[in-house]
Amino acid sequence: MSPTPRTALTIAGSDSGGGAGIQADLRTFFACGVHGMTAITAVTVQNSLGVQGFTEIPVDTVTAQIKAVSGDMGVDAAKTGMLATAEIIEEVAKTFEEVHIGRHAEKPLVVDPVAASMHGDALLREEALEAIRSELFPRATLVTPNLDEVRLLTGITVTDGGSQREAAKALIDLGPQWVLVKGGHMHGDPRCVDLLSDGVQFVELSGTRYDTEHTHGGGDTLAAAITASLAKGLGVPDAVAAGKRFIERSVAESYPLGGGVGPVSPFW
Ligand code: PLP
Repeated sequence: MSPTPRTALTIAGSDSGGGAGIQADLRTFFACGVHGMTAITAVTVQNSLGVQGFTEIPVDTVTAQIKAVSGDMGVDAAKTGMLATAEIIEEVAKTFEEVHIGRHAEKPLVVDPVAASMHGDALLREEALEAIRSELFPRATLVTPNLDEVRLLTGITVTDGGSQREAAKALIDLGPQWVLVKGGHMHGDPRCVDLLSDGVQFVELSGTRYDTEHTHGGGDTLAAAITASLAKGLGVPDAVAAGKRFIERSVAESYPLGGGVGPVSPFW
């Protein structure tokens, strides 16, 4: 018999292509050595060419999954990905309160505010952005928006380090403890600079930009790797640094699959 590992819960959508969403989270949790658990919010129909559509899971089933695993197995850290609708966001936020997940309960919560796929297909109903801001952000230990999500959430278009800092401040004003403004989509920059802030400290995390178009599931993989480190008891800056090393390697090892965008690979 082995000792019981730390546990991480992902509340997210299924990707039939296996590159992003629940599938990316589970393989990342596995690669990071934590036991992964899931509350599926939506089933997407997608492949390397894009998302063809999605069906959301009834909201009671979403919250029942969270309650079932947290009541019995325990959740050391959780992350949210694709939440699809305002109703799911509101009920998931209430459930976090009940099962003591989130920054005030000392069970770290990473909120990846997934709004669209890299092909531009919507993964969130438009009216749900306000629920992310008002219900989820104040409960988050860390939020991890990319630059498109920053623009949707704050109205700020990030073009350089200055506006990245301005965006971090605007996001912290919405209530999360920490924010990681990911710079991966700032394609003019040969480096890949993410900005981590708690509103007081501003830490630039600089990484290598790899020349690959196969980055499907990259955002999910980074957030899942950070969540795994938080589940193991690391503080936010150390967990983010570990997550950043993990995603860099995963992008370096990404592979082509299908006729479109292949996935990042957490297996090396
Ligand atoms: N599908 C699901 C279920 C997701 O959660 C995500 C991203 O979070 C995507 C697709 C999009 O991934 P990408 O932007 O890497 O294509």
